[in-house]
Amino acid sequence: MTQVDALDWIISSVMRAESIAALCLLGHIMSNAIHNSEPHRAFNADQSEHNIRNKTRGSWERFVRAQQSLAGGVSSGLRRSARPYPLFYSSGKGSRVTDVDGNFYLDYGLAWGPLILGHAPQEVVRAVQEQLERGFTYGAQHDLEFEVAEFLTATIPCAGRVCFANSGSEIVQVALRLARAATGRSKFLKFEGHYHGWADEVLVSYHPSQAEIDSAQGAPIPTGAGQRPHDKAFIASWNDREAVERIFASHGEEIACVICEPLLCNSGCIPPEAGFLEFLREITQRNDSLLIFDEVITGFRIDLRGAQGFYGVTPDMATYAKAIAGGLPLSALAAKAELLELVAGGRVIHAGTLNGNPVALAAAKATLKSLGQDQGAVYKTLRSRGDRLRDSMEQMLRQAGYPVVTSGVGSVFQISFMDHPARNYRDTLHANRELYSDFCLALLDEGVLALPDGRWYISTAHSDDDVDATLAAVKRVILRA
Ligand code: PMP
Repeated sequence: MTQVDALDWIISSVMRAESIAALCLLGHIMSNAIHNSEPHRAFNADQSEHNIRNKTRGSWERFVRAQQSLAGGVSSGLRRSARPYPLFYSSGKGSRVTDVDGNFYLDYGLAWGPLILGHAPQEVVRAVQEQLERGFTYGAQHDLEFEVAEFLTATIPCAGRVCFANSGSEIVQVALRLARAATGRSKFLKFEGHYHGWADEVLVSYHPSQAEIDSAQGAPIPTGAGQRPHDKAFIASWNDREAVERIFASHGEEIACVICEPLLCNSGCIPPEAGFLEFLREITQRNDSLLIFDEVITGFRIDLRGAQGFYGVTPDMATYAKAIAGGLPLSALAAKAELLELVAGGRVIHAGTLNGNPVALAAAKATLKSLGQDQGAVYKTLRSRGDRLRDSMEQMLRQAGYPVVTSGVGSVFQISFMDHPARNYRDTLHANRELYSDFCLALLDEGVLALPDGRWYISTAHSDDDVDATLAAVKRVILRA
């Protein structure tokens, strides 16, 4: 769609009273036109956008309608970043989703990670259906709680005990509260670019701009308006031992815990450098602080034992959500038994009406049973399939002359248009996001759905044929450029 076409189309949308979204888009295009008289559109992105708009009219109409009642037309803020606009889906099965206009997509977003077995896997559907017949929730004890808890304590190295909640954001709060209670200290150290949910205290220095970084001078940077002031977090750069050592040297006695994504999935899938997790383990122990791995993404995704099993470093606590129940809302905290004794004894409060509800736990039991077969043999296949997809895409893009790097572990990886692999969040600021966004848009037009931030997920439902079909689509996209 040329700018003139777009304006034509927007203006007629406004005339048809599809006003709010059309006006937003008009604003976007006008500001593009003002700030960037020749916006860079690679991979023939104008044509892709034109095609997508034509074949997803049902999504557009729904998006316009949804914005009249639902804030921003979406239920989680990040979803607004989809180009050309958020699509609406009617079903998903295996590796594919179908939108309301009947278009199929090979899905590499997987609902931002949870769908480790793909969409609607038969064994999970059956388990959930059977449970639904027996009741949605009891607000009381049932067998699935200890059955899943036993699986977790037998599988996760740091899990002496577990407790359940519904989302990653919630369970991180339990971990931090426990750390404060166990140590009698109130502060924590987190890393720039790491995401630990949307609660006030942890949603700091997540994706700051260069200007924000420059003016903050190392202080925590709130991500949005309305957050409480931050006087509890210390911020360090990922993979930077000196920074962590400096903070501990001057504040060691105040720090209850260090929390990190052991594989930094939320900012470029950046792995820990050799010895870095071991270093975090050692410095927290030396300072009587606790080490928390936020395994909301890595848990049951990169290994049956999570990142702690994969990297061989056992933290004091670890948080799980996403893949643990294959797409139903469940989160868990795994911790050494003596820590969760504080919850068991009622000294630390952990509560929730729907905690441990049997529907989510039925899904978790079925999902974990499937993943755990033959000691997690499926992870070998997931890794090799993910690696083939990632390596082949990288190679094809490189051969076509694009500066591209990829990173990650098996079924979760990142594609970035940049010259050098990132070591920390600030390095990711050098990636060409506009180029990636155009790549993503062209892939969508080819029936491949990828997340706008460059992260790719695959599930056990993705077959070798799916990977081949995706690589063929990537080739077509490159040829469009
Ligand atoms: N921690 C990490 C590492 C995450 O990726 C996320 C979600 N993307 C969260 C915590 C928060 O989880 P939820 O969205 O379920 O609240």
